Amino acid sequence: MNMNALDILKALNTHMEQIIRDILKRMVPFAASRANLAEHDFEKRLRLNVNISSKINAFASPQNGWKTFSVIINNALMIFYHKMLKVYVSQLSIGDDEANAIEKPIIPFNEVVNVSKELMSAYWKGKLLAQKSFFLEEMGIGMGQLTLLSRLVRSCECFTVGHELGHAVFGIKRGYVPEYAIAKEFVNDFFDDIPDLEEKVKKLWVKPWTKEISADLIGLSLSLAQPNIDPYNSWPNYKQYLCGGAEISILLLWMLQEYYDRLHHGRKITLRSSHPYYYLRWKALNTSPEKEKFSDHVNFGKRFGLFAIRILDQIFSKIENGTYKLRQ
Ligand SMILES: [Zn+2]
Repeated sequence: MNMNALDILKALNTHMEQIIRDILKRMVPFAASRANLAEHDFEKRLRLNVNISSKINAFASPQNGWKTFSVIINNALMIFYHKMLKVYVSQLSIGDDEANAIEKPIIPFNEVVNVSKELMSAYWKGKLLAQKSFFLEEMGIGMGQLTLLSRLVRSCECFTVGHELGHAVFGIKRGYVPEYAIAKEFVNDFFDDIPDLEEKVKKLWVKPWTKEISADLIGLSLSLAQPNIDPYNSWPNYKQYLCGGAEISILLLWMLQEYYDRLHHGRKITLRSSHPYYYLRWKALNTSPEKEKFSDHVNFGKRFGLFAIRILDQIFSKIENGTYKLRQ
C-alpha cells in the first residue's frame, strides 16, 4: 500500500467524521427539543465539517440567523486529545486505588514532560500528524489503560460536539436558555474580582464569554442526555466519564493556550480572546448543577487537571532556566 500524506489526512478526517456523526445522532434529539424544534428540522439545519483547521477550537457558524448552521470540528484537536490522553493514561496504575491520580509511573516524569511539550509544539506548528505520540506501543500499554483511554477520548469528543450544539441551541433560542443566567453571573463575578479592570474591556467580553459558558453548560447536559446504550452500557458509570471528559477537553485546550501564550507573550496575560480563560470555563463546568449530580470519587477532571499543572510547571521552569528555548 502506498498512501501519501493527503490520503492519510482524508482517511483520518473521514474516520473522525463517522465518530462525530455517531455522537450527533445520539445528541440531536435532545438538542432539537432544547431548541423547540422537531428533530428532522434541527437535523436539516445542521451541516458538519470535519477538517484540520488552524483554529484552536471547534466552532459553530450560523447562516441566516441559525436557519442553517455549520459545526466545524478541528480534527487536529481531536488528534491532540488522543495523543495527550495516551501520555496521561500511561501514568496511571489502573486497578489500584483510584483515588491516587499518579502512581508508579513506568516512564520517568521528565520524559512525560518532554513528550507533552513536543506534542503541544507540534500542534501549534501544524505538524501533529507527523509527531510520534509516545513510545508506549513499544513499552506495552496495558488493557486497563487502553480501555480508560478510549472512554476518556470518547467523552472529550462528546463534549466538543455537545458544546457546538449548545451554541446552536443558544442561537436558535436567541439566548433564552436557563443556562444564560448562571453563565452571566459566573462571568460577572470573575470580572468583579479583577482590580482596576476598565469598564469598556468588561463590556466587550461579558457577552461572548457568557455565550461560551452557556454553550458549555448546555453541551454538558446534551452529552449526559445520551442514552445508556453501546458503548456506554459496558462502562462502569458512563456519566462520570462523560463529566470527566467535559472537564478534560477544556483542560487540554487550556494547556495548549497556556503553552502558546507563555512562548509568544512571555508572562503577560491579556484578556484578548473571545473564549474565556479556560480556567473560568473549567470552573463553571465543574460547579454546574448538572455535573454535581454525577460528581464521583474517581473525579477524572480534577486528576487530569493536577497532571496538566505539573507538566506546564515543569515546561515553564525549563523555559526559565534555558533548557527549552522560546519560540521553538
Ligand atoms: Zn464555543
